[in-house]
Amino acid sequence: MSKLDRPPDDPSTECLPHMTDNVSPTTRSRMMSGIKGRDTAPEWTVRRYLHAAGLRFRVHVRELPGTPDLVFSSKRVIIFVHGCFWHRHAGCRFATTPSTRPEFWETKFHANVARDRRHEADLRRLGWAVITVWECELGSTKFLDELFWRVVAGGD
Ligand SMILES: [Zn+2]
Repeated sequence: MSKLDRPPDDPSTECLPHMTDNVSPTTRSRMMSGIKGRDTAPEWTVRRYLHAAGLRFRVHVRELPGTPDLVFSSKRVIIFVHGCFWHRHAGCRFATTPSTRPEFWETKFHANVARDRRHEADLRRLGWAVITVWECELGSTKFLDELFWRVVAGGD
C-alpha cells in the first residue's frame, strides 16, 4: 500500500470516474464542440487525487495568464490539465484532425497551441513552474503519484 492510498471508508473514492482507454461519446462530443472545458472529468481526477494526497491549491485563477486550472501558490507551481484533441497533444491518438474543413481546424489548433505556449512563457517569467498534464495520462495511479511528487518538489 502506498502512502497515497485512501482508507477504504473514504467516501470520495465513490465518485472517482471510471477510466478507460476509449473516449466516451460524451467526451468526444465535448472535444469536438471545441468549448474550453472547465471542471472537466480529467481535471477532477487531478484535483481529487492531489487533494486526497494532502495538497491544497486554488483552481481557475483568473489573475494569472491562461487562467491556470490548479495553482499551488506556496510552491510556485501551476498545473494545466489539457484535453489532447483541443490542445494538440503531440503524437497522441486523440489528437486527430477532423476530415471536414481541415483548414478551419488547423487554424484553430495552431492558435490554441500558440496561446498555450504564450501563457506558459508568461507564467515562467513570473516565476512559476508550469506542469502540463494530458488527459490521456490520467488512467494510471502511478502517473498521479509521480505528479504529486513533482508538485511537492517544486515542479521539476
Ligand atoms: Zn494525449
